[in-house]
Parts: sequence; structure tokens; C-alpha cells
Amino acid sequence: MFIAQQELQALMEKAKPYAENGNIPDYIPALHEMDENLFGIVIRKDNEIVAAGDADHRFTLQSASKVISLALALMDKGEEVVFKKVGMEPTGDPFNTIQALEEEEPSKPLNPMINAGAIAVTSLIAGSPEEKKRRLLDFVRELADNNKISICEKTAQSEWEHSDLNKALSYFMKSHNVIHGHIDELLDVYIKQCSIQVNCKELARIGSVIGGNGKDPVSGRQLIPPRIAAIIKTFMVTCGMYNASGEFAIRVGIPAKSGVSGALLGAHPNGIGFGIISPPLNEYGNSAAGIKVLEEVSQTYTLSIFS
Ligand code: GLN
Repeated sequence: MFIAQQELQALMEKAKPYAENGNIPDYIPALHEMDENLFGIVIRKDNEIVAAGDADHRFTLQSASKVISLALALMDKGEEVVFKKVGMEPTGDPFNTIQALEEEEPSKPLNPMINAGAIAVTSLIAGSPEEKKRRLLDFVRELADNNKISICEKTAQSEWEHSDLNKALSYFMKSHNVIHGHIDELLDVYIKQCSIQVNCKELARIGSVIGGNGKDPVSGRQLIPPRIAAIIKTFMVTCGMYNASGEFAIRVGIPAKSGVSGALLGAHPNGIGFGIISPPLNEYGNSAAGIKVLEEVSQTYTLSIFS
């Protein structure tokens, strides 16, 4: 491994104060109860892992789940069907933007990383709402290699009770024929997908699968087709940090996806996976200290894919 435990620990200590610049979101009350001092990072390459901080603590994936649902929808329906409903362009708007929905003709969400795009993607996963939920959970379990991974029902319930904006986005899309059917059932799937709980070790393993062309780092089994793993990494670069993706590409240069829980999933094309948690978020809804520690690691070991 390119980094020793003490070195990772030192970079984490350097990034820690950045959490003080962030805030824990309150629009999902259950997330507001997260410990602001929680901080963990795991780096995985093949069978090796290096961990620092709260590497075993469980948290919900939130928007980090959007790359997983996209992989599943692409595996189920193929590129043509998926990209007829969801665009491929960054927005310059926040993750929950409704404005960006009106910008394309015919109206469709600009990309699968903003909420509207992710909800549309979830609607494309094959099966009934119950089957979609089960298949998403099974897929996360397979990628993370832990069949005990579960959904945090408390967080899901809390999000459900405060989901007016996601409902509005969904009804808007339904009226424009982007999605069909029962909105409450679809949002239940989307919210449960966001509420799947992992720890940093599992998140890093998921990152190493996506990074390593879709192959399981241990068995070598192809869990995601290489073409789809490449599409996902590209979206992580162009849209993974929402309207802060450009700055992140310059400072860090590693395909990554954030979640409003403070989760950060990194997938380096050389097969290195990163799983990070630090709940306080910066103004763009990305983990303040999480981004900083990934920047430190990337710059110290020249990991930017553009370097
Ligand atoms: N479940 C959250 C939502 O839909 C995910 C958003 C995020 O992580 N940025 O609002």
C-alpha cells in the first residue's frame, strides 16, 4: 500500500479542524443527531486496507447511493433507455435543485447525481417497488461483501416526513413524463436506498470495485460491467460534488461521490477505494473535513487522475 497507517492518521489530524467550518444538515432531523466529531477514513487496494479514526461506525449512504442505483439501472436497462430519461451534464446548481429540471428540452433532469436525476434512475431499476428495494440492498451487500448490511429505518422515516421537496421534484417529472406510476412508492424506494447503512471499510470496498473496472477486489468477479464502471466514475468527476465538482477535480482529482450524512465515496481508476465519514457539511452539502482529508491524501501521493 502506498500509505502507512501513521501517515493516514497524520493527514486525518490535519483535516480534522475543517469539520468546524461545516454544519450538520437539519432538513432530515435524524441526520442532525449525528455526532459532529465522528471522523473515519479507510483506503483499500486489492486485499489491503489502511484505516484511521471511526472506521467501523455505521452511517447512511445518502447520495453516495446514487452511483450504485445508477449502476443497477444501467445494468437493467442499458445506456440508451437510461439517458433518454436523465442527462449527462453538470448543473452548477445544488443537489436538490428544481430549477435545473426546466433547463432541458424535453424536460429531464440534467444528471443522475442531483436528487431529481437519482429519483428518475431509481424508477428505471427493474421490478416492483419491493423488488427494487431488495435488489438495491442485495447489490450494496454484494459490492461491500457483507450480507448483514441493512436499512436505517429511523433515518428513512425521518426523511420521509420531510420529503416535500423530493415529492415536488417527482411530481414535476411525472407531469413531464420522465417518471410514471405511484410517487409515494417510488420515493419510498429512493429514501430507503439513501438510508442503507455502511461503515468506512465497506464504503472503501465499494469504491475499489467501481475504481477497479467493476471487479471484486478479492474474487476478481465482474460485479459491474467495465463500461458501466467507467460511466459512473465519469459522473463522479463531473457531478459527484454537485456545484463544487470543478474545484474538487482541481484540488483532489479522484472520482468521488458525497452524501448528506457526511459520507464520501472515492473510486480511483487504479482500483483504490476510499470510504470516509465526517458529518459537518460545507456550503455545497459535501463533507468539509472529508474533502480535506482526501485532498491531503491525493496531493501527498500525487493521486489526481489528471496528474
Ligand atoms: N436522501 C437525501 C435527499 O434526497 C440525499 C441527498 C444528499 O445526500 N445530498 O435529500
